[in-house]
Amino acid sequence: SYRKGGYHAVRVADTFASGRYIAQRKLGWGQFSTVWLAYDTQTEAYVALKIQKSAPEFAQSALHEIEVLSAITNGDPTNSKCVVRLIEHFKHVGPNGQHWCMVLEFLGDNILRLIRYNRYKGLEMNKVREICKCVLTGLDYLHRELSLIHTDLKPENILLLSTINSSKDPIKSKMTPILEKPEGVPNGSAAMTAIERRLKQRARRAVATISTKRGGFVTAPKPPRCLDGIDMNCKIVDFGNACWESKKFAEEIQTRQYRAPEVILQSDYSYSADMWSFACTAFELATGEMMFAPKGTQGFSEDEDHLALMMELLGKMPRKIAIGGRRSKDYFDRHGDLKRIRRLKYCPLDRLLVDKFKLSNTDARELAEFLCPILDFAPEKRPTAQQCLQHPWLNMKNPV
Ligand code: ATP
Ligand code: MG
Ligand code: MG
Repeated sequence: SYRKGGYHAVRVADTFASGRYIAQRKLGWGQFSTVWLAYDTQTEAYVALKIQKSAPEFAQSALHEIEVLSAITNGDPTNSKCVVRLIEHFKHVGPNGQHWCMVLEFLGDNILRLIRYNRYKGLEMNKVREICKCVLTGLDYLHRELSLIHTDLKPENILLLSTINSSKDPIKSKMTPILEKPEGVPNGSAAMTAIERRLKQRARRAVATISTKRGGFVTAPKPPRCLDGIDMNCKIVDFGNACWESKKFAEEIQTRQYRAPEVILQSDYSYSADMWSFACTAFELATGEMMFAPKGTQGFSEDEDHLALMMELLGKMPRKIAIGGRRSKDYFDRHGDLKRIRRLKYCPLDRLLVDKFKLSNTDARELAEFLCPILDFAPEKRPTAQQCLQHPWLNMKNPV
């Protein structure tokens, strides 16, 4: 992919935008781009630099993402709506062509890594609530104020806030590696002097913290690892596939496991498709496992397996909905029964949470009461993000 039309190869200390940004290390990548941590010499802060592949279709998709991100950023001047901010964008010319670059606020690890870090045990319920609140705040903003549908909500696209740029001591951050001096900033320059001063202060503070602990070594307990003290604020990212309610681009949206039934059946979708993905994500946070992980085999397709799994957990799909989509005939007979998967093993959500995931009866019942209405097969009956934010479950608190 590092050829004409593809990714731009970056080396540590490469500069962008006439020297303003200096590449530090790779943060991640996707189908469209590589994302680098960069040091912004103008604001003396770290940013995420998303460098798009250069072929025309990628450039076009970058311009779309920039348009969406600009609307998001302009509509939220106080940066309080739990959605990533675009700082600026520019074009960078390299050996593989012209690459659109997006400068984004630098965030921390994604929620999938958080689940892995916790060894797929599921997070403590109070942390699940905190993350849900942030995601709902973001969705409510996108849906109600901007008329945007994200269309790809999932744990990978929800990022924790990084502590590196904040006034909080990054030494305390257990997830994001601590940065030493940024690479490529000239020694003796004003920027480097300021950085060195701050690093010295930080080191003094760290020594003060560690010397108050007996034993000297601080190790993470296993398993699951200790997530105490990690700030559970997070933000929604990756707007490459987002669309306006009134201007949709694709019939098939969403990552498989988070895909809503109306998308599979090709009935019309709207904001409520994001709500379905949200419920799947919340379940995964609480249990460490995906809610639906369909597999296609010889007898039936992945889509049909997916529909069967949904019904096993949520009950039979109402006939009108089952037969109402443009693709319904591929999966359902005229009675609204699946054509190829005849015997379903029903197990309601609260029971699954207790039997398989060992949640307490109370936690299971409360979580199921919150999630089940969002998993209504009828998209128009699902509560909106705004309505979900009013749900008492979000403000309950388990004793720690
Ligand atoms: P996809 O194939 O999922 O569409 P993409 O090319 O559009 O990918 P993103 O999903 O936006 O790229 O970013 C890829 C990865 O880079 C993310 O999963 C995340 O790990 C990292 N990343 C993206 N934005 C940021 C950010 N603002 N701060 C920190 N890391 C980020
Ligand atoms: Mg992504
Ligand atoms: Mg993308």
